[in-house]
Amino acid sequence: MEKKIICTVCPTGCEMTVTGEDGKVTSVVGNTCKRGEVYAASEFSDPVRTLTSTVRVENGAEPLVPVRTEAPVPKRLIPEIMKLVNGITLQAPVAQKTVVLENVLDTGVNVVTTGECD
Ligand code: SF4
Repeated sequence: MEKKIICTVCPTGCEMTVTGEDGKVTSVVGNTCKRGEVYAASEFSDPVRTLTSTVRVENGAEPLVPVRTEAPVPKRLIPEIMKLVNGITLQAPVAQKTVVLENVLDTGVNVVTTGECD
């Protein structure tokens, strides 16, 4: 199996061709440095993303407050995490860095507010 991946580790954005089977990388072509190879292996086997979204706020100056995962989480879990995020309603006031989901789906990562709401 071959996959085209653009490295996002630095602004150079090297285009890499990754070859492998069953999630194991056998070759990476197109990377300019070792960091690209590490990124390609991660993207090929279990890609991760930082999730950003908003949650509802009741009785606040704004109806929504922004949230994000404190670290990247497996991309395959994002639809399930979004269902949980969409089910949350906070009561104002809401402080920045409030944990709204702790250790979401056993990833070891919290979902926290990145803004505040009076
Ligand atoms: S492979 Fe290296 S040089 Fe190329 S985008 Fe990734 S980090 Fe930057």
